Amino acid sequence: MTVSFDHIESLHDLEFLASVCTDCSLSEGRTNVVFSSGSPDASVMLVGEGPGRQEDEQGIPFVGRSGQLLRKLLGEIDLDREDVYIANVVKCRPPHNRDPRQDEIDACKPYLRRQIELVDPVVVVTVGNFSSKLLLGTTTGITRLRGSAYEWWGRYLVPTFHPAAALRGGEQVTNHIRADLMLVRDIIDGRVSPDPDQGSEPQVEDETVPEQPTQIPLFGRDRR
Ligand code: URA
Repeated sequence: MTVSFDHIESLHDLEFLASVCTDCSLSEGRTNVVFSSGSPDASVMLVGEGPGRQEDEQGIPFVGRSGQLLRKLLGEIDLDREDVYIANVVKCRPPHNRDPRQDEIDACKPYLRRQIELVDPVVVVTVGNFSSKLLLGTTTGITRLRGSAYEWWGRYLVPTFHPAAALRGGEQVTNHIRADLMLVRDIIDGRVSPDPDQGSEPQVEDETVPEQPTQIPLFGRDRR
């Protein structure tokens, strides 16, 4: 049975439900449910993969070294971390930081879907390979996906590298994240607008992306 939180009208109530959720086995190993941080009125929502050890301990997403770099890079486009809404695909830490499994993603999907609906951001930034591929419904990797804004469920989606990849990969990866965040800045400042010729189809600016991303697998149907 697919769980729906359509009747939940506030992030506060949704967070309460998540805090007592036992819908997958990740709940057995968690210290805290890591639901979100930041502003519920944000124009920009970041979606990462899942909590790591420090996030699990503190109950807050992106608090480790990746989070510090993220804060710095957001600052470079004049966004405080507190101004954006940050969430993850799964709200409980996978053991040994492994990728979330399909059953865990499916169990957590209704929370993320309702978070996006309630925050209603102008742009969703998928942080890293995992959330980018999942939300765009594609097997194309982040290296080829990034650098573009996609029209997605009546808003924009900008995929970028995970800050952990920048910490490993150095200045070149960091500069790619910088460029993607500049695109986010352009969108929220109204310098990027939908191409009227493209209707509601995903807008792929990067000709090298071979596979047209679709959004069906995450949210099931477009309500806009
Ligand atoms: N990586 C993520 O994807 N999310 C976090 O919250 C922390 C690290």
